[in-house]
Amino acid sequence: MKVKDKEFRVSIPESEILKQVARVAKEINRDYEGETPVFLAVLNGSFMFAADLLREITLPCEISFVKMTSYEGVNSTGTIREMIGLNTDITGRPVIIVEDIVDTGLTMAHMLETLKAHNPKSVDICTLLLKPDKLKVNLDVRYCCLEIPNEFILGYGLDYDQLGRNTRDIYTVVE
Ligand code: 5GP
Repeated sequence: MKVKDKEFRVSIPESEILKQVARVAKEINRDYEGETPVFLAVLNGSFMFAADLLREITLPCEISFVKMTSYEGVNSTGTIREMIGLNTDITGRPVIIVEDIVDTGLTMAHMLETLKAHNPKSVDICTLLLKPDKLKVNLDVRYCCLEIPNEFILGYGLDYDQLGRNTRDIYTVVE
């Protein structure tokens, strides 16, 4: 499949994705028994994952969507990230972050810090994909559907320049 200037091939078919999503949902159903967690899905990339995951959750639960903005600072502090759109009171509540991919982990580390200021009961990370070789920070990723090598991927919600989010399979760039 060609998207803009790059060629992509299927690396994780839909059947494997859904199998791993169901496995993780089962773990969450077991671990959170008796609780009513708030799922916080990070837009845009996690919309498809969040939809499939939540269909497998049998607990009473809420879902809310947030977005991380990312822009270069005017000084040399690097990228500044800010969480926007949190309109649910998470004070004293168990929170599960639903993310498409943890790469360096910097986005997630920043989000954890922001959420902790709201005094939730607990915060767990649930990611569709993890690139373990690229992690730059010490992150406790409790729920992970699939670990992948350090290659650019697209599909099932993830984009290349906003394109390609609408595929059922996950694709890897062909170098
Ligand atoms: P991190 O802060 O962990 O380095 O970056 C996480 C974000 O980078 C993800 O939410 C996603 O938007 C983007 N990202 C990282 N790796 C990939 C990739 O292989 N493909 C796509 N489409 N986005 C990626």
